[in-house]
Amino acid sequence: MADVILVTGGTGLVGKAIQEVVESGEKREGEQWHFLSSKECDLSSLEETRELFQRIKPTKVIHLAAMVGGLFHNMANNLAFFRVNMAINDNVLLCAHENGVDKVVSCLSTCIFPDKTTYPIDETMVHDGPPHDSNFGYSYAKRMIDTLNRGYSNEHGRKYTSVIPCNVFGPHDNYNLQAGHVIPALIHKCFVAKRDGTPLQVFGSGKPLRQFIYSHDLARLFVWTLRNYEETAPLILSVDEEHEVSIADAVDAVVEAFGFEGEVNYDTSKADGQYKKTASNDKLRRLHSSFEFTPFKEAVKRSVDWFVENYETARK
Ligand code: NDP
Repeated sequence: MADVILVTGGTGLVGKAIQEVVESGEKREGEQWHFLSSKECDLSSLEETRELFQRIKPTKVIHLAAMVGGLFHNMANNLAFFRVNMAINDNVLLCAHENGVDKVVSCLSTCIFPDKTTYPIDETMVHDGPPHDSNFGYSYAKRMIDTLNRGYSNEHGRKYTSVIPCNVFGPHDNYNLQAGHVIPALIHKCFVAKRDGTPLQVFGSGKPLRQFIYSHDLARLFVWTLRNYEETAPLILSVDEEHEVSIADAVDAVVEAFGFEGEVNYDTSKADGQYKKTASNDKLRRLHSSFEFTPFKEAVKRSVDWFVENYETARK
């Protein structure tokens, strides 16, 4: 029987990228892919989630749906981030199990790792210590996915696993100036600064270091994981350590992509968040050594071009 693959969070940044990658060649003969929106099913409701699984009858699930946001949105809403994400994750994995789904790949994030740790971070360190205070609600809810996966694997023999992407950016991102992540928020700000002839205001010092993955690269890796990765333990999906960049480097890439010639100011009264959270992709490299990432500047340019072309309809 051909697979029916349900992608929760199918309308988001990562979900749209998976859809584009699937439609441009990754789809196999007979496979049916279903990209889910919250409009079709609110996954924080067990009743709606059960109804969805009985209707769609997936055989495999990529679980992306989550309440997500940038540093400032997280800081103000930790309780909601915890409760909503716990409910979504519990409902999705329970319904997958109840309906005999044999493989689920869920999504954690590198920002859920212990705040005080050694670098580079690897997959064995997810539960080693408290996460950063700024996003404890989101982080603990994400960590519990790994706990659920272990339970379903140990007690029911399910192949429920998770991946840990670093910071993602690309077309269809949330470009909101308050709730957006750093790159989409910068792209939107730079668009406005260029249009209005005003300075580009960057929050924080620009010094923190981050690994950024282009959404289409992550999408290809998600499909590879679904088809090839057999462990319950998480797998980090990140660019190599030497491709970590500072926020100031990201600002420069955005400024260059726009050809912005105005003033750039760093507002150091705003929080920087974690200084770094360098993750090791050694495990991925051992399993899938041939994977090639899109160069950072090229990926930023593609994202900027997408935002400019889709300004009217982009999420902002
Ligand atoms: P987006 O905010 O772009 O998309 C979120 C998705 O979740 C949307 O499709 C949304 O549906 C769906 N969703 C939210 N709430 C519900 C709900 N109650 N019921 C059903 N669906 C819901 O997120 P991303 O694509 O950026 O993130 C995807 C995954 O990747 C998440 O698990 C996130 O934690 C993780 N991740 C993201 C990173 C990043 O940098 N963006 C970094 C690391 C991990 P709709 O739009 O229809 O409302």
